[in-house]
Amino acid sequence: MKREKTRQVKIGKILIGGQNRVLIQSMCKHKTSNWEEVVEEINECAKLGADLMRVSVLDEEDAVSIKEIKKHISIPLVADIHFDGRLALLAIENGVDKIRLNPGNIKDESVIKKIVLAAKENRVAIRVGANSGSVNSEVEALPLSLAEKLLLSVKKQIDILEKYDFYNIVVSLKASNVKETISAYRLASKSLPYPLHIGLTEAGPKDISLVRSVAGLAPLLLEGIGDTIRISITGDARDEVRAAKRLLHDCGLYDNYPTLISCPTCGRTQVDVRPLGAKIFSYLEENNIPLAVAVMGCVVNGPGEAKNADIGIAGGKGQYVIFKKGVAIKKVSEEEAYDTMIREIESLR
Ligand code: SF4
Repeated sequence: MKREKTRQVKIGKILIGGQNRVLIQSMCKHKTSNWEEVVEEINECAKLGADLMRVSVLDEEDAVSIKEIKKHISIPLVADIHFDGRLALLAIENGVDKIRLNPGNIKDESVIKKIVLAAKENRVAIRVGANSGSVNSEVEALPLSLAEKLLLSVKKQIDILEKYDFYNIVVSLKASNVKETISAYRLASKSLPYPLHIGLTEAGPKDISLVRSVAGLAPLLLEGIGDTIRISITGDARDEVRAAKRLLHDCGLYDNYPTLISCPTCGRTQVDVRPLGAKIFSYLEENNIPLAVAVMGCVVNGPGEAKNADIGIAGGKGQYVIFKKGVAIKKVSEEEAYDTMIREIESLR
């Protein structure tokens, strides 16, 4: 898929923007100074596919913990800092790879200058961004749409960094509203050269966030907009990573992932297909097996409906039928179903 061309920004060992893959990120839910919990959370997310993780830096203890965290993780780390510029300097000193900053809420210009110079010297990227809740106060009063206000707010932040010849910038413009988010990113992609971090802010608990995030982000991704993605969920960071990966895969932007197909089941289903499907799907997902696998309720319509799958299983009466590309190849009992499917899946890897 053709992606919008942006500058390429280096974050630790990875690259954001240009024509690089859309990167997956999430944010730790623990306090950063509890570094052992943070390390565990980051490593679990990385195993699931997170390319980079962000931590909040509220105080010196958090900033100093970055050094310890970095020793135990293998993906780049982003520090989220507001108001207190000294914490940004401390985070850079402790080895952070990228900073999420709003230069507009750091009042002392000399501190901003120090942060930018330190970021340059240590090759640290900076993400600037406006959220619907943090539009610049001068911009707020203007007769503009929220999307235009977000863009103008972020441009003011970019101006501050560019003033010191800093261009290692990633940009976000997050609204909690789907239409405003889409408009804001479309505007940004037309007028800014920097890679875009896309997401909706305050997207809600899992079920609500998933629908809202897909509604807001899929149109952008399909238009080639977005260089890194976060799906915000009031809940587990691992669910954010799983959701981002599924969305990217369904948009044709992430190959190394299974395509999971299953029918909704109906009155024709005569075996307990749902737990079997859940087990097979977790196996495929946890092992990143890039096959299309179908789990269908019955043999009447199952193989036909799933003929695009590499391999599938359909429920019969007290037994299952396993099929490849829509053609039945063997019958198995309910007890044998899971193990046989895994063997067949493994034989295709
Ligand atoms: S594949 Fe069979 S069980 Fe599943 S919805 Fe279709 S008819 Fe019902």
